[in-house]
Amino acid sequence: MTLLRHTHGGTITERQALTINPAKTCQPIGAMYAALGIHRCLPHSHGSQGCCSYHRSTLSRHYKEPVMAATSSFTEGSSVFGGQANLHQALQTAFTTYEPDVVAVHTTCLSETIGDDIPQIVQKATEEGLIPEGKYVIHANTPSYVGSACTGFANMTTAMVDYFSASASPDKVAGRINVIPGWVEPADMREIKRIVRLMGLEAIVFPDTSGVLDCPQTGKHELFPRGGVTVDQLRATGDSIGTIALGPVCSGPAAAQLTTRCRVPNTVLPLPIGLHATDAFIMALRKYNGGKVPREIADERGRLLDLITDMHQYFYGRTAALWGDPDQLASLSQFLMTIDILPKYVVTGTPGTKFLKRMGEVLGDRKSEAQVRQGPRADMFLMHQWIKNEPVDLLIGNTYGKYIARDENIPFVRHGFPLLDRVGHQYIPTVGYAGAIRLLEQILQVTLDKIDRESPEEQFELTL
Ligand code: SF4
Repeated sequence: MTLLRHTHGGTITERQALTINPAKTCQPIGAMYAALGIHRCLPHSHGSQGCCSYHRSTLSRHYKEPVMAATSSFTEGSSVFGGQANLHQALQTAFTTYEPDVVAVHTTCLSETIGDDIPQIVQKATEEGLIPEGKYVIHANTPSYVGSACTGFANMTTAMVDYFSASASPDKVAGRINVIPGWVEPADMREIKRIVRLMGLEAIVFPDTSGVLDCPQTGKHELFPRGGVTVDQLRATGDSIGTIALGPVCSGPAAAQLTTRCRVPNTVLPLPIGLHATDAFIMALRKYNGGKVPREIADERGRLLDLITDMHQYFYGRTAALWGDPDQLASLSQFLMTIDILPKYVVTGTPGTKFLKRMGEVLGDRKSEAQVRQGPRADMFLMHQWIKNEPVDLLIGNTYGKYIARDENIPFVRHGFPLLDRVGHQYIPTVGYAGAIRLLEQILQVTLDKIDRESPEEQFELTL
């Protein structure tokens, strides 16, 4: 139940030190998700068991797959004296019992507050022979009192570059690029790989959770599924001719780091959700394939344009409220503007400097009609207050919006992370032209369902 169920809107008081129902998720969850995108990688949470359980269960509930991760299992003793002994014990157990190729350690609020120095602890573990030959331990700092799951994803992806990317030769490999897909569904990563293949390019996609968190049912559980970017591929990223980073928050930092380390030029783009953001992705790929766009891609774009035209009569003049992660929100908002739905209220709890500027560009001359907030007070409570005062026609966001959707009777499209109360989203892409068609279908479905539900008998029509 929402806190505002029995209120009627009114004056909104600016809060100074209280967040109610944040529009973000805990930073290590993003690091854990990114680490699962490395083949044969065991994510490791350096903190207490509760954090690890929460992160694993949230990922499992969203992806409907078992999510394996180890924990340093801090006790009162480790909280006082530091977690070195626990991490050493954990690494020894992990490598002897589960045999991962990589253990990806991320920190939690507790280990960050203690100030555990992970590189020093791992160095000592190496000296004591706890890390077998040919096995790797990487790490990212992910205190959850700063950032969000997006920055956790970005930090772990940057760690992949820091620990593995190398330049084996002064000559780059022609026709091969790196693509950092951002925090999207496994199906989106598969779709991004399909688009790159159709454009005639070879790509190292990292991280890559396709084939890890959307595994086929074989009747046999595999601790390390077939998917994920390999260590050899990560090493080779330093020799690619370029990097395309999809989403400035989740993917931009790793791309910049790869440029610094290995002189691989990078292009940072919005997540390819919707017509214009997908156009930008295709145009960036054209720079590497000699300018060609295959018929199959052109046809997909044409079908999307056709559908936008067919559906425009239902969308024109409507408004929407969105919450979640900034990379997703910016591209979704741009797509809504394309189909003439105004993203009237947009909130993200992920901090940063570029989102509000980007949203200003997306909204253009309709900026004054929208409310966009970022940071600790940009929460679901504030968004609900806005909706109480002036309702919208559509909600787009994660599962936490279902209470507002029910209370205010607003059509709701589930999108983003986490989606805890639906199954199947991880199998259906929303990136690319084909993904945009899926989004349009979802938006129209919930919009017309409401009209059908509420029409008086004499206006209930077979066709709309
Ligand atoms: S916010 Fe901090 S303490 Fe809470 S689950 Fe996340 S990492 Fe653990």
